[in-house]
Amino acid sequence: MLTNNPQDLASEVFENYKRYLNPPLARVMKLSGSPVEVRAQGTTIWDQQGKAYLDFAGGYGVFTLGHSHPRVIAAVREQMEAMSLSGKTMFNVVLGRAAKRLAELAPGDLQLSFWCNSGTEAVEGAIKLARAATGRAKIVATHDAYHGKTYGALSVSGREAFQTPFRPLLADVAHVPFGDASVLDDVLRDAAAFIVEPVQGEGGVNVPPEGYLRAVREACDRAGALFIADEVQTGLGRCGYLFGCDRDEVVPDVMTLAKGLSGGIVPVGAFIARPDVWNRAYAKQPLVHTSTFGGSEIACAAALAAMEVLVEDRLVENARERGAQLLEGVRAIAAEYPSVIARARGLGLLVGAELTSEGYGGWIIPEMLKAGVTAAWTLNQQRVIRLEPPLVVTAAEVERALGALRAGVATAAEKLGRL
Ligand code: PLP
Repeated sequence: MLTNNPQDLASEVFENYKRYLNPPLARVMKLSGSPVEVRAQGTTIWDQQGKAYLDFAGGYGVFTLGHSHPRVIAAVREQMEAMSLSGKTMFNVVLGRAAKRLAELAPGDLQLSFWCNSGTEAVEGAIKLARAATGRAKIVATHDAYHGKTYGALSVSGREAFQTPFRPLLADVAHVPFGDASVLDDVLRDAAAFIVEPVQGEGGVNVPPEGYLRAVREACDRAGALFIADEVQTGLGRCGYLFGCDRDEVVPDVMTLAKGLSGGIVPVGAFIARPDVWNRAYAKQPLVHTSTFGGSEIACAAALAAMEVLVEDRLVENARERGAQLLEGVRAIAAEYPSVIARARGLGLLVGAELTSEGYGGWIIPEMLKAGVTAAWTLNQQRVIRLEPPLVVTAAEVERALGALRAGVATAAEKLGRL
C-alpha cells in the first residue's frame, strides 16, 4: 500500500533502496534530488507530491508510445484474462502473430525470430546464433558499444569499468573504432559476426557517417561473417526511421530488439534473422536455445498492439520531425553557451548534448528536474546528456524541454563564471 503522505513515502522508498537494494546508488539518487515516480501517462510522469515531469529520458528509449498507452494496456488486459503465460507445450496464437508482424516490418528477408525478455538476452541469442551458424567463434564489436550486462553482451560491450570485475569474459572478442568500416576487412576474416548499433546510444549518441552500415554489410559479405545490428535502442522509430539500418537501406543478417518493442508495458526482447542463417544454426536442433518466459502471451499481445500504434499513428515521421526540431534547439543552446556544451548530435529522437566537462551534468540534470523535465545520462560516456522523449512528443513539449535545458545550462555557465 502506498502511504498518502509524500514525505513519508519518499523516506520509505529511500530506506528500502538503502537497506535492501543498492546503498551507494540510493545516496547518489538522493543527492541529485531524485523524486519518487508514482504515475505516468503519455509524456508525463507524476511524483509523490503530484508534481508533473515532461519525460525526456523516456526510460532510456523504452517509452516510444509514451507511458501507459491505452491501446497496449487494453490488449494486455484482454490477453491476461484469456491466458497470461504460455505453457510452451502447445502452439500459441499471439506469439505467431507477433513474429509475423515483426517480419513484415523488419527490413528485407529478416524473418525468423526468437522472443525473450530483455535487450541483453536478445544480444546473447544473436551471438549464439552467429557462432552456431558460421562454426566460427570470434565476435567483433566497437569501442564504446553498449549491448547489455550478461556475460556475452558484456563481452562485446566497450566499457572497461563494467567489464573489469567480471573477467575473464567471452574469449575471441575484438573491438574496433565505431564509424570506420575501413578497419573491418582484416579483423573480420575469421569472425563469426560483427555486432554494431546503428547509432551508439549509451556510448554518447554517436551517429556514424551515412553509408557506414552499407560498408559494414559489404565487409561482412567479403569475410563470410554475419552482420548483427543491435537495434535495441535505435529500432522501431527512435531514429526517425522504422529501423536504424533503414537510414543506409541495408539488411543485416540478424537484428536485436527490445525496449520499445512492447510499447513500454511488458518486458520483451527479440532477435530476428534471415532464414538461411537461422537454418544453418538451428534446423537440426530446434531446442538448443529456449526461454521459459520468452514470448509470453502478454508481451506478444503488447508488442502486436505497440507495432500497430507505431505504424497507424505515424510515429516514425513524428520522431523525424520532432527530432530535427530538438537537435536544432540543442545546437542553438550549444552556440549560446560554448563553455558548457561542446557539441550536439543525434538522429531522430535520440539526441545528445556533449558537455565540455563530465561534472556539469550534475548541475544541469537536477536543474531540469526542478523545472519539471527529465533527461538521462549515458552509461558509457557521462559527458553526454541524452534527450530521448517518447515518439508521441509534440512541438510545444520539445520547446518546453529546450527551455528547461537552456535554464540548466545557464545555471552551469553562471556557476562556472563564479569559480
Ligand atoms: N543493446 C543496446 C543497444 C542497448 O541500448 C541496451 C540497453 O540500453 C541493451 C542492448 C541491453 O538491453 P537491456 O537493458 O534490456 O538488457
